[in-house]
Amino acid sequence: MDVTSKLVGVAASEGVAVGPVFVHSPGELKPERETIPEGTADVEIEHFQRSVEAVVPKLSETAEKMREAGNDNEAAIFDAHIELAQDPELAEGVAERVRNLESPEAAVLAVGEEYAEMFAGMEDAYMAARADDVRDVARQISAEIMGESSLGLEALDRPSVVLAHGLAPSDTARVPKGMALGFVTAEGSKTSHVSIMARSMGIPAVVGVGASIEEAFKADVVAINGGEGYAIADPDEEAISDIERRQAELDTERAELEQYKDTEAHTSDGRRIEVSANLGSAAEAAGALEWGAEGVGLFRTEFLFMERDELPSEDEQYAVYRDVVEAFGEKPVIFRTLDVGGDKDLPGVEQPVEENPFLGWRGIRMCLDVPELFKPQLRALLRAAAHGNLKMMFPMIVDADEVRSAKAMLDECRGELESEGAEIGSVEVGIMVETPAAALCAADIAGEVAFFSVGTNDLVQYTLAADRGNERLRHLQSADHPAVLNLIGQTCKAAEEAGIWVGVCGEAAADPSLIPRLVELGVKELSMSAPSIPKAKKVVSEV
Ligand code: PEP
Ligand code: MG
Repeated sequence: MDVTSKLVGVAASEGVAVGPVFVHSPGELKPERETIPEGTADVEIEHFQRSVEAVVPKLSETAEKMREAGNDNEAAIFDAHIELAQDPELAEGVAERVRNLESPEAAVLAVGEEYAEMFAGMEDAYMAARADDVRDVARQISAEIMGESSLGLEALDRPSVVLAHGLAPSDTARVPKGMALGFVTAEGSKTSHVSIMARSMGIPAVVGVGASIEEAFKADVVAINGGEGYAIADPDEEAISDIERRQAELDTERAELEQYKDTEAHTSDGRRIEVSANLGSAAEAAGALEWGAEGVGLFRTEFLFMERDELPSEDEQYAVYRDVVEAFGEKPVIFRTLDVGGDKDLPGVEQPVEENPFLGWRGIRMCLDVPELFKPQLRALLRAAAHGNLKMMFPMIVDADEVRSAKAMLDECRGELESEGAEIGSVEVGIMVETPAAALCAADIAGEVAFFSVGTNDLVQYTLAADRGNERLRHLQSADHPAVLNLIGQTCKAAEEAGIWVGVCGEAAADPSLIPRLVELGVKELSMSAPSIPKAKKVVSEV
């Protein structure tokens, strides 16, 4: 490539680098055979089962390696892959196709794709990004069936910037240590796994650059600026010195941020702001504490429900919630009760097809209608509360009546547990303020709860009538809009009058340009992905 060209995408992981290009283009995994001869189905189904058995220890080994290196978040991804690989529905789907004389290597790819499409259609960006996990697992099993054991980037033998259409977690995890200077991908969003992993590995990443990746494949060298969301193919001297300048700034900034990890954040005039972590699994707890989390401001419990076929039992939930509160000791952990519904398929609960799933039967609406779903979770939370500082909050609330109904169900569970002689703890109850209605009724609701946590991701989409996943509406996907800030201000005012506190757990909580505004409005707690914590503490100290 002789002309410098700029690839613009999503700023997925901060950091800069300049390095040789490594194109990861494994191509489509082609099944060796599409069909199998009649009479061989049973043997081929066994072949599939043996291949799953061969893939699982490799996944455990990778998870173990990650855990030893202290990367619990990545380890959790591979634990989930093991569950996917052993999923009985996947096995049954493959067996059915093989009985119809489809080859197992083709069948597993096809069933994996069906699952992936189901995930990709989900409204929640995190769940949609799980589509890549399913494809990744299906590819590994298919490759194993065909006797191809390597699909990854282990061939990378000099520090390089990795360019790819998309990167699966197993790809990123197999990169030999220190060999990836950055990731640039055509696909992906801020919540896809390449972004999550890049952030926790501290590797710069720009995702979602689209078709421009093809041109960049021809480059020799790429410069990447993950914080600003661009990469430059065959950069000229000026572009390289820009990157070097930014690198020097970042080095200074990171060294300076170290000191904030273990501090309590106070504004310059002495107001105390708690900075906490958003978690999706118990495995993330240790890493969050290392980043300086003062608690958990949002534990998204739905991941525990959605990464499996059946509803988790009360005991299973209790074990997870207990692990998390124990890891945090006296620090508060806020569990958000189940927030699924609409187009999110929850195994074990029949869900209607809806015209407008964003405006549908989701969150607390569904939980109140299905006590057999909600009550085991409430019971598990009450029991886990005996082991730490546990709080809970309800999602998608629109008025005080809903809060009263949810609390009535909680009281019912408490009564049942007491009469059973179970050990339970006291629990503060709050709500997510993520609908304009909740913000507008905040004064009324405040009398029912101990805190509010503003979910700006949904509050923005409902206030501005702008689908949070729609690429064309990026300019309407920020909490920095007077309508949204007015609602947050109104929420804080109502809370103050009622003597309760307000936190923010949507993306806006980690946005350095918004933190001062949120604090001025009266927000007392900010909760975010763990690596953003030190910087947020610093920004608070400068308010
Ligand atoms: C939110 O809506 O801001 C939020 C934190 O919840 P979620 O992103 O899980 O909808
Ligand atoms: Mg939400």
